[in-house]
Amino acid sequence: MSTNISPEALAARAALDVIGTVEPRIAAAIRAELDDQRSALKLIASENYASPAVLLAMGNWFSDKYAEGTVGRRFYAGCANVDTVEAIAAEHARTVFGAAHAYVQPHSGIDANLVAFWAILADRVEAPALRRAQARHVNDLNDDDWAALRRELGDQRLLGMSLDAGGHLTHGFRPNISGKMFQQRAYGVDPNTGRIDYAALRQTAREFRPLILLAGYSAYPRRINFATMREIADEVGAVLMVDMAHFAGLVAGQVLTGDDDPVPHAHIVSTTTHKTLRGPRGGMVLCQPELADQVDRGCPMVLGGPLPHVIAAKAVALAEAGTADFRTYAQQVVDNATALADGLKRRGVTLVTGGTDNHLALIDVSAHGLTGRQAEAALLNAGIVTNRNAIPQDPNGAWYTSGIRIGTPALTTRGLGTNEMDHIADLIHTVLANTQPTADSKAKYTLDPALAAKLASRAAELLTPYPLYPTINLNTDADAHPQNHPRGDATEA
Ligand SMILES: *Cc1c(COP(=O)(O)O)cnc(C)c1O
Repeated sequence: MSTNISPEALAARAALDVIGTVEPRIAAAIRAELDDQRSALKLIASENYASPAVLLAMGNWFSDKYAEGTVGRRFYAGCANVDTVEAIAAEHARTVFGAAHAYVQPHSGIDANLVAFWAILADRVEAPALRRAQARHVNDLNDDDWAALRRELGDQRLLGMSLDAGGHLTHGFRPNISGKMFQQRAYGVDPNTGRIDYAALRQTAREFRPLILLAGYSAYPRRINFATMREIADEVGAVLMVDMAHFAGLVAGQVLTGDDDPVPHAHIVSTTTHKTLRGPRGGMVLCQPELADQVDRGCPMVLGGPLPHVIAAKAVALAEAGTADFRTYAQQVVDNATALADGLKRRGVTLVTGGTDNHLALIDVSAHGLTGRQAEAALLNAGIVTNRNAIPQDPNGAWYTSGIRIGTPALTTRGLGTNEMDHIADLIHTVLANTQPTADSKAKYTLDPALAAKLASRAAELLTPYPLYPTINLNTDADAHPQNHPRGDATEA
């Protein structure tokens, strides 16, 4: 047995062996997924690569445990170890984000938003109704008071960012439950600058008088002034909720500070843990002390039993996010996005808002006569993985779109830097400049297959020096050839 096999490789091989004895097709799919992730030049702004420690923390017997309730107050016996894990995760979250309270149970970003919405509704609508009825608990209300409270809960107003400006479906849009819960109005961006128009937003808030002002995005390439957002919320008596799902890693990594940091300004902050934050797939809520008790009722309010194995992985990821290495990573994510945007602009590619000052950029592909759908497919054909996205006032709607969203969190984790970003800008520009739309379709396009193949091999070459999960080699034949083991650590940028 060779001694140069890393602990991560041993763990991964052992896991695959065990899984393979039960369902070999699943073991094969897991191996295939690693190959796919390794070979993809991934510019998907919402994705990242979690460290081996984060991934390994998820695959264990914590998955077997029910632990409804909160640390020290469970509805099940035998939760001492879950308490340890959840307390550590919450402690790291409070430290990393400077938050008064952290609730680490939400299973995803949408769940974190539901917890936040219902904590706000419980505090601002339900609690006053209980006081008026001199009741301690909803079960103490008579049928008429309960019916009135249910109508009141269902009649609240939410002001969130419009989808084509970069907002998220969970911010009060009809296809999502948030749109069925709230009377929603959306704020957009200035049509000339593509940026949030705070004066217009303030005017809308004054007219609409929302219970919740919701800030946050999944496709807005600029920073948000959360001090101004709070001022607007306070002026109209609204709760300021920030959904930092996309940029939590930039907050943890202290790239977004002062007015750009939502945590000191918002009443409540929701997030995912798997995007820029680089943790396991999951969610989290941070809040001011006055909302803490309501937030902690997330389970059973909208969540099922917690996922203690995922909470363990959140704790590991948050420990990583508190390090100097992570701060270097977060800054590099933004430097890389800036370099990518500059490289595109220099080559004549149009960007929404003219650039970026976070981890993502939005290309307006209409100047190339393409829809987002055509550009996305052509880029994939040339080895570049992106996703299409609507742009402000998009003439092609949310399905075909006129935009391509690109982001740097994943490639930065692999170790790519600003030089590589300039190469990637060249690849993207070459694809866009050489792709022809098909006249009768918003989906079909033509791109010379020889050119596509050449670009795809250039994309693959860019990745070669930066292997993904370099310590994990699943190929046992390679053990005899230690020179085949790449050096370094994929989790450090
Ligand atoms: C990704 C995202 C979500 C949803 O997260 P899931 O984990 O997929 O449920 C919510 N809000 C915003 C702003 C997001 O970007």
